[in-house]
Formats: sequence, C-alpha cells, structure tokens
Amino acid sequence: MNELIYRWDQIRSKIHQACQRANRDPKSVHVVAVTKYLDLEGTKQVLDAGLEHIGESRVQDAVPKWKQLGERGIWHFIGHLQRNKVKEVVGRFQYLHSLDRFSLAEEVNRRANQKDTVIHCFLQVNVSGEESKFGISPDELEDFSKEVANLSHIEIAGLMTMAPKVENPEEVRPVFRELKRLQQQLQKLDHPRLGVPHLSMGMSQDFEIAIEEGATWVRIGSVLVGGYQRGDQQ
Ligand SMILES: *Cc1c(COP(=O)(O)O)cnc(C)c1O
Repeated sequence: MNELIYRWDQIRSKIHQACQRANRDPKSVHVVAVTKYLDLEGTKQVLDAGLEHIGESRVQDAVPKWKQLGERGIWHFIGHLQRNKVKEVVGRFQYLHSLDRFSLAEEVNRRANQKDTVIHCFLQVNVSGEESKFGISPDELEDFSKEVANLSHIEIAGLMTMAPKVENPEEVRPVFRELKRLQQQLQKLDHPRLGVPHLSMGMSQDFEIAIEEGATWVRIGSVLVGGYQRGDQQ
C-alpha cells in the first residue's frame, strides 16, 4: 500500500478513537493536510489520496503549486501573513487560520471586497503566552473579535491556537481547554456575527488531545506527509 494512504488510515483511526473517548461524532473533526513540506508532486498525491483541504504557510511556495493544480483543493493559509501578501492569498485561499491583528484584518477585508469574495478566518490566539508565538492575547480577544465582526467580507470561522512543543502532549491539554473556554465566552456575547463555530487546534504531535478538548479542525503535516523534508519551518 502507498505510504501516504497507510499514514492517512492510521491518522483517521486515531481521530476516531479520540472522538470515541470524548463522545464526539468523528464527522465533526476536519483535517487540513499540511503540504508546506511538499513539492508539487507530493501535494498532488495528497489531493489524489482524497484529502481536499490543504494547508500552506508561505505564499511563495503556494503560488507555483496552485498554478499547476488549477482549481483543485480547498486552500488554507496557516502561516504568519504579511500585509503585502494579502492580495495573493485572498481569492485563492478560502480559509485563513492566522488572523492575529486588526491591520491585517482590514487589509484582508479590503482585498476580499475588491474581489467580491468572503474569506473564512480563524482568530489566532496566543493562549500559551510564549513570546515566540503570534496571536492575540486572550485579554484582547473579545474586543478584537467584535472589531473583526464588523468587517463584511470576513466570516469568522472560529479560533486557532498553536500549542508549545513539548515532550508529552498531555502537557498542552490546558492550552486547548482554554481555547474552548474562550470560544464559549465569545458565544455568550450573543453577537449575530460571532457564532465562532470552529476550533483550529492540534498538529501532528498533539491532535488527539486537541480533539478530546474540542478541536473541529486539526492541521496535520509531518505524521501524514513524512516530516520535515524542507526543514522545520513555520
Ligand atoms: C507546519 C504547521 C502545522 C503542521 O505541523 P506538523 O507538526 O508537521 O503536523 C500546523 N499548523 C501550522 C500553523 C503550521 O505552521
């Protein structure tokens, strides 16, 4: 059996088991296959394996791929996004997982308006408070989300976080639990544009824990596509 299909099978069964432990419907968990480590051929294989949601973290890597792949795939931008790259992202990526500041939100909204489209955005929260991590601080989240909710061409898909790298993934469970709590807090505001339906959390090392804590999108790279062929990049 093809290595990728085998790995995908393993991951799917882990997702199912985690859902069982948490008493959740596996259909509520969606997977972004992170293809940032792969060249065009590798990315094509991921799509051929039936994974249609693909995640890229750099515009300059994604552009040549989508030129070749045409309309294939549903694209998720997962990396840190600079304002001058927004025009390339909007219109091609349906999802942005890293909306972390209002100046970026305004530019995304402006470009989406120009292209007469809407982009689904996750507000990235720096739950762990690590200085190296991007994301809005939990204290600022309520105000930030209300401001973003005013922007007509952004649909707030939910919240996203990246947990610290640790030996034992159990250690990051509180980070995921906190993102869930922040989601519930926003939902209590009962704001018409703040349904905040999704939680994008969990990567190769910790997706099972994230699912147990309520992840509805997991972003899986190395355990699916075989690691860091292009170096350990964000
Ligand atoms: C690279 C990356 C992932 C995937 O990481 P793996 O550990 O390889 O699964 C997920 N999310 C973001 C934001 C990333 O940059």
